[in-house]
Amino acid sequence: MYIIFLGAPGAGKGTQAANMARKLNLVHIASGDLFRQALEQGTELGIKAKSYMERGVLVPSQITIDMVLEHISAPDGEGGAVLDGFPRNLEQAEALEKALAQQGKAIDKVVYIKVSKEELLKRLSGRWICRQCQTPYHAPDSPPRVWGKCDKCGGELYQRPDDTEESVRKRLEVYSAETAPLIDYYGRVGKLVEIDGEGSEAEVDRRITAALGGER
Ligand code: AMP
Repeated sequence: MYIIFLGAPGAGKGTQAANMARKLNLVHIASGDLFRQALEQGTELGIKAKSYMERGVLVPSQITIDMVLEHISAPDGEGGAVLDGFPRNLEQAEALEKALAQQGKAIDKVVYIKVSKEELLKRLSGRWICRQCQTPYHAPDSPPRVWGKCDKCGGELYQRPDDTEESVRKRLEVYSAETAPLIDYYGRVGKLVEIDGEGSEAEVDRRITAALGGER
């Protein structure tokens, strides 16, 4: 089973995709997390991606496609995956479709998490993320129990360097211009499931689970 999570930066894709991957026992492949890991490790991929990420624009598609397809074809991705942050434009969507078709596979569902622009800006401006397990927190709406430490794993919390006002504005622009057309693209082939992304994490989780036909 292959499920894509689609939505603007701050829509809650990462949290919900991780929850759903756990429930469905699928691997969670988050392209942004893979780039951040590469950056922290100082690999060639990380060095290539750095300047694009800092500016809030997309890393060139071929670099991204190669990175994600490598994870999809790895043994733990073979049984299916939850894709988060990929595809981000038509070129990536077509490359993914082709690569899966070559293995006799296809995308099953695309979960589009819809959140208003005001809510996105509010969420991104107070966002703190665990460096170890990527769990997001929000000051002041959903702070950790101990300031600076993750409730789940004790990891250190940090603010993403691309969550600055300027970078957020750019990321939202890029989303509207390049990624939002995928909503129509997947809608036309009957794979799109639209979810109201406002409300608590548990509420959104329930909506997604119901829309995907309950827990398997
Ligand atoms: P994210 O964590 O998904 O918000 O991604 C952070 C940054 O990584 C983005 O602003 C892009 O620079 C880059 N990135 C993540 N996924 C992709 C993708 N599918 N295509 C191109 N760039 C990406």
